[in-house]
Amino acid sequence: MTYDPNNIFARILRGEIPCSKVHEDEHTLAFNDINPQAPVHILVIPKGAYVSFDDFAAKASEAEIAALVRAVAKVAGMAGVAEDGWRLLSNIGVNGHQEVPHLHIHIFGGRKLGAMIGKAG
Ligand code: AMP
Repeated sequence: MTYDPNNIFARILRGEIPCSKVHEDEHTLAFNDINPQAPVHILVIPKGAYVSFDDFAAKASEAEIAALVRAVAKVAGMAGVAEDGWRLLSNIGVNGHQEVPHLHIHIFGGRKLGAMIGKAG
């Protein structure tokens, strides 16, 4: 899939639409999900133009990959969920139910999150 520079997260990165920012560094931005599925629901995205985890793994620099991994853990700590436990998730493509075609890592926490995945639908 080719990267769509007008996807909503690209527009957030360009400052064209606002977000509820949680953390930012050279390579990543983290912000609260607009439709939270848990008391803590934060999205961490790379600033680079990567469609998905697959695309990122294939094309991102070592520095970008390290930054994203570290940002996810840092943001979980900042959100106060590290001690009780939390979940990270990245949806990929059609079967993964990815809605926004810019890589994003979901961070969920703040309650018991239950079984790992729901039924198909
Ligand atoms: P996914 O299905 O993994 O692509 O998830 C996309 C996520 O982006 C959903 O959880 C949406 O609620 C979230 N989302 C969509 N638009 C925005 C926005 N403008 N600001 C924050 N989160 C958003």
